[in-house]
Amino acid sequence: VILKHQLSGFMKETDFEIMVGSVKLGVGDASNAVLVKNLYLSCDPYQRSLLTTPGSPVPGFGVGKVVSSSHPGFEPGDLVWGMTSWEEYSLIIEPKILLKIEHADMPLSFYTGLLGMPGFTAYIGFFKKGAPKKGETVYVSAASGAVGQLVGQFAKLHGCYVVGSAGSKEKVDILKEKFGFDDAFNYKEEPDLEAAIKRYLPDGIDIYFENVGGKMLDAVLPNMKTGGRIVVCGMISQYNLSGHEGVQNLIYLIRTSIRMEGFRVMDHYHLHPKFLDMVIPHIKEGRINYLEDFAEGLENGPAALVGLFHGRNVGKQVVVISRE
Ligand code: NDP
Repeated sequence: VILKHQLSGFMKETDFEIMVGSVKLGVGDASNAVLVKNLYLSCDPYQRSLLTTPGSPVPGFGVGKVVSSSHPGFEPGDLVWGMTSWEEYSLIIEPKILLKIEHADMPLSFYTGLLGMPGFTAYIGFFKKGAPKKGETVYVSAASGAVGQLVGQFAKLHGCYVVGSAGSKEKVDILKEKFGFDDAFNYKEEPDLEAAIKRYLPDGIDIYFENVGGKMLDAVLPNMKTGGRIVVCGMISQYNLSGHEGVQNLIYLIRTSIRMEGFRVMDHYHLHPKFLDMVIPHIKEGRINYLEDFAEGLENGPAALVGLFHGRNVGKQVVVISRE
């Protein structure tokens, strides 16, 4: 899947084209190279910012199987997840983020989400940046997505009271019934977001897990408790704008002594094994649920990626290239 031209505003399916070409199934003369057969590809909002080079395949996270390798860390047959490209086979030279899958008893697609980059983002953001305490109140925006659904469940496991917002009734029902959020609302049906948040969290918010930015952030700031933390994970409402919306209520950072901190998950991968040790028992013993939204076939990848910015995905958006 190739980016046809520079993007402008919201991406569209027509910004991409499918090209058919052949690859030699080997690493050739390249050193530290890994040829991977891609199995599952991940659709992630940050890909909007990577889509800058027309004529090249869409970059992104994926799960695959090593076909051949001149890299000392990988052998043919290894299952891997990490940065790859939207193509059936990827030749990855000097891989920066490519990790061997040690727990192959889990569904492989989970390494695009729950066990991969988004799940790990939820873990780092909530536990390391949010510094949660039992009994605190947590609010999560874009709560039914890949990251949000896990933040809510981690918060519940930690003994917090959790409210989430999402963009449809179906998603709101899933938050409460499948992921165990204490309450949830459809932000698209709330003409006054600040009042809506006050209604659902009348005593204020200790931790806001920010996935959206813009008007949502403005509505949250006056609802924060003194000493609250805003974990700035993402601002999806801003990614397709040419300029960024101004936030009016930043003065509340001072008034209520709020700590607001961003982070990049890529700076924390050394902690990924620790994350797996924590999360896998929860999955195996049924304490964590997870919802995936599968698009079948590479040719359906562009529509799936575009859909993230219109809330069409229900759960983690995955593109299936091959199941083996
Ligand atoms: P999701 O699976 O949640 O998909 C995106 C969702 O965002 C959509 O389904 C939609 O749900 C919602 N959305 C889209 N546009 C808007 C808008 N204008 N206003 C409000 N909501 C909107 O994505 P992820 O869980 O993968 O990512 C969540 C956030 O985490 C993103 O901001 C992403 O950039 C960020 N992130 C940050 C990382 C880091 O290192 N800091 C790493 C990974 C992700 P709805 O129907 O609810 O509107």
